[in-house]
Amino acid sequence: MYKKLEMFYEGKAKRVYKTVVDQEYIVSYKDDATAFNGEKRGTILNKGEVNNQMSAMIFKLLQELGVENHFIALINEREMLVKAVEIIPLEVIVRNITAGAMAKRLGLEEGIRMKFPVLEFSYKNDQLSDPFINDDYAVALNIASQWEIQCIRNMALKTNEILREFFIEKNILLVDFKLEFGRYENRIILADEISPDTCRLWDATNNEKLDKDRFRRDLGKVEEAYQEVLNRLKA
Ligand code: 5GP
Repeated sequence: MYKKLEMFYEGKAKRVYKTVVDQEYIVSYKDDATAFNGEKRGTILNKGEVNNQMSAMIFKLLQELGVENHFIALINEREMLVKAVEIIPLEVIVRNITAGAMAKRLGLEEGIRMKFPVLEFSYKNDQLSDPFINDDYAVALNIASQWEIQCIRNMALKTNEILREFFIEKNILLVDFKLEFGRYENRIILADEISPDTCRLWDATNNEKLDKDRFRRDLGKVEEAYQEVLNRLKA
């Protein structure tokens, strides 16, 4: 029913294919895992299936609650049909609890709950290891317009509100996450994926990490953590 044409883009975790419809792509999620800008490589068994299904579930929820996104339909366990957006080369990161690069940069311990969610931007560029920038850089360098940045900011913070509540019902803390946005028919819509690859997710009872940090930091039980998140979301 959904016909894949030539591959249009291959990233570290996904392949994107053209379809017979100009405005639609097929995204196929891989099991390949990379960290530290590709320096660490590996495979997480069934990651593609978990990330595809979890992203589909979350994109549907966000759509229902007014955050327009690229998801159209789930095709099979590893593939989804999406709107063909023009990706804006910004990594939009929302943080609720200190962790990762922020904790390192500021010499903070992980796990401090902040007074309000913090939004930050990185310029999406592998050669430069996605450097930290602010919204002034983005506008001054024509990466995005002021209006686009405002849309992105509003949508990212609304996504955070929705997802924090969604995850805590599953006894999961949403520590931080990365979003990507795209241009579609003169609008800005949410794109890419929302999965344990792109979110820090901690068990709310014991702070156990249920995300890609298990791979990045060699903590073991990586596949089990991804599956655990999907199982809790489906329950
Ligand atoms: P940090 O800036 O602390 O490394 O990452 C903050 C959040 O954004 C984490 O949830 C992390 O998984 C996500 N993130 C940041 N950069 C990337 C990236 O290049 N790829 C992926 N998959 N996630 C990222």
